[in-house]
Amino acid sequence: MNSNEIDLHKELKKYFGFSQFKGLQEQVVKSITQKKNTFVIMPTGGGKSLCYQLPALIQKGTAIVVSPLIALMKNQVDAIRSLSSESGIAHVLNSSLNKTEINQVKKDITSGITKLLYVAPESLTKEEYVEFLKGVTISFVAIDEAHCISEWGHDFRPEYRNLRSIIKQLGDVPIIGLTATATPKVQEDILKNLDMSDAAVFKASFNRPNLFYEVRTKTKNVEADIIRFIKQKKGKSGIVYCLSRKKVEEIAEVLQVNGISAVPYHAGLDAKTRAKHQDMFLMEDVEVVVATIAFGMGIDKPDVRFVIHHDIPKSLESYYQETGRAGRDGGEGHCLAYYSYKDVEKLEKFMSGKPVAEQDIGFALLQEVVAYAETSMSRRKFLLHYFGEEFDGETGEGADMDDNVRNPKVKVEAQDNVKKVLEIVRDTKHIYKSKEIVYTLIGRVNAAIKAHRTDSQPYFGIGKDHDERYWMALIRQVLVDGLLHKDIETYGILKISNKGLDFIQNPTSFMMSEDHEYSEEEDESIIT
Ligand code: ADP
Repeated sequence: MNSNEIDLHKELKKYFGFSQFKGLQEQVVKSITQKKNTFVIMPTGGGKSLCYQLPALIQKGTAIVVSPLIALMKNQVDAIRSLSSESGIAHVLNSSLNKTEINQVKKDITSGITKLLYVAPESLTKEEYVEFLKGVTISFVAIDEAHCISEWGHDFRPEYRNLRSIIKQLGDVPIIGLTATATPKVQEDILKNLDMSDAAVFKASFNRPNLFYEVRTKTKNVEADIIRFIKQKKGKSGIVYCLSRKKVEEIAEVLQVNGISAVPYHAGLDAKTRAKHQDMFLMEDVEVVVATIAFGMGIDKPDVRFVIHHDIPKSLESYYQETGRAGRDGGEGHCLAYYSYKDVEKLEKFMSGKPVAEQDIGFALLQEVVAYAETSMSRRKFLLHYFGEEFDGETGEGADMDDNVRNPKVKVEAQDNVKKVLEIVRDTKHIYKSKEIVYTLIGRVNAAIKAHRTDSQPYFGIGKDHDERYWMALIRQVLVDGLLHKDIETYGILKISNKGLDFIQNPTSFMMSEDHEYSEEEDESIIT
């Protein structure tokens, strides 16, 4: 251990009272103190804040922390102030401050007292602030929720796109980007937009071994099913997510009528009611919160035992975030999603009013949710693959924690068919997304297939003996297995990997799980 390391542990203890760093924190802190551009990808709760707070506290100058949420900034500033006798150690700079307050902030920064300055991205575009910041010592700029920079993230904010050019005006200051949601695509966008391809990248595992993942087909008895499920978890806390406010109200009422203590939570309720319902949940005066996604930001209840999605979410990032609120204490966390293709169509229809580029992204993200819902393979493996992480479905931690693994569907040998898929991707020269590959296999034409004359190729229709659903499912499994991958630029065009090319030369067994089928059953005992 060199002296640097010992110092960091001492500082950690001094400021935060912790005797150990968590996960990759120590490496990240070192990277920042060495003035390197740094990129941190850690799931929520991984301890990202400390990654920039500690280096800010121990270095000369002020660290600028860009964060999109004013409420969270205030919480963080209060937390930092509680660590020190000097209240000027952390400040927020935003439009809510009056002239006197702004002058105080500037004075504290100039005199070197302020170690952390939290700003909203739009405040950083203010000429006056930028001029001021140019004249003071900046230790580094931390960009929290860095996925906001990418249209492929779940929370795109155009102001984030200006950050790089503003930071450049501040001189040669290192940047640290942090996010809890980084698919390989978002990750690439962040590095590109912040112009830091040289960054040291620290990525923690996104696996949550204590969460159990389950998807059920949504039938007209979904409410009865939810009630049964919750009654089996008697006395435990849980969240039910719905997409609309109306649904939230309806479900909350149905739960109450059926003897489950539940409250609604959505942005249409007044602030007082929202705060009251949130507190009731935290204090365990109610068991269940029925909510839109407005609920959960910054909620830290460690013993949420189940998260139900009455409607499928718009993306797997959202799904991961929302289910991530279960089992934070490491105990049981059951994540149940109801899936119906009708809901997908509803979401698609909703998106159709948006600009084309946004629509394309929205559809592609939704397609991943559909694939997750329909898959018969390990859901954990599927989710982690989506986040660019390979998971060993046999021995990985939590490998048996999902419905597909617990109740596996019969597997069938698909070696020859995998070879067909790979050969078509290769022979059509990497121009098609899954849909066109499947069309080529089953011999169906569309505009793209006509334009490329694929319908006159000898392989056109060689997979007619199976249907579209079969081939889609197979391609999804081939993707997760890494024989094919999706092009990162176009997000969707299928490319063959070296592993895929090897497979064509030396095909090996490929056991494919068939899709689950669900039965619809009536339940008359539930009051709806
Ligand atoms: P994130 O921003 O990644 O969601 P936070 O920064 O909010 O995570 O940290 C999550 C929790 O972990 C907080 O309660 C924090 O106090 C705690 N924590 C962070 N670092 C450590 C550490 N080194 N040892 C113990 N607890 C830690």
